[in-house]
Amino acid sequence: MSEVKPNITEEAKLIPWWVVGLAIAVFAGLQVLMHVVMFPREPHPLPLAWRIFIGFVAGMALAFYVLLVGYVNRDAKRRGMNVTLWTLLVIFVPNAIGFIIYFLLRQPLRIPCPKCGAMADPAFNFCPKCKFNLHPACPQCHHPVQVGDTYCPYCAMALPAAATSR
Ligand SMILES: [Zn+2]
Ligand SMILES: [Zn+2]
Repeated sequence: MSEVKPNITEEAKLIPWWVVGLAIAVFAGLQVLMHVVMFPREPHPLPLAWRIFIGFVAGMALAFYVLLVGYVNRDAKRRGMNVTLWTLLVIFVPNAIGFIIYFLLRQPLRIPCPKCGAMADPAFNFCPKCKFNLHPACPQCHHPVQVGDTYCPYCAMALPAAATSR
């Protein structure tokens, strides 16, 4: 299995810039809503430090929610999943349950076939489009070898070009 280790910085780059902008706008909008509209109407106003704290935490939570929806939208696309269905699910299923279901059920990241470029599940042994061997092994010692290797790194056997050429 060659599931790429999730790197939080790399994953965050999936989120489109306009979703980041939307998250900032949502944060700012909520501050205005709470400090200008909601808090002044309280019959027994909270201390200022509490109001700032509550506004900040609620704003961050909502902004994070927006970013996560943007992430799911792009992540579902590259995994070959139903983008519209999953985006709506994570937006409308309450209490973040949509996100939990998404992260439990999402498909493994697909990898491009080195020969024809078709997207293939990493569990596949052969490309479904061109029959390219996605997990070549050394014919002598049977260790898995990398596509493009000329010699087996385990036993120095010269690898047949047909099996590992790009
Ligand atoms: Zn292929
Ligand atoms: Zn070998």
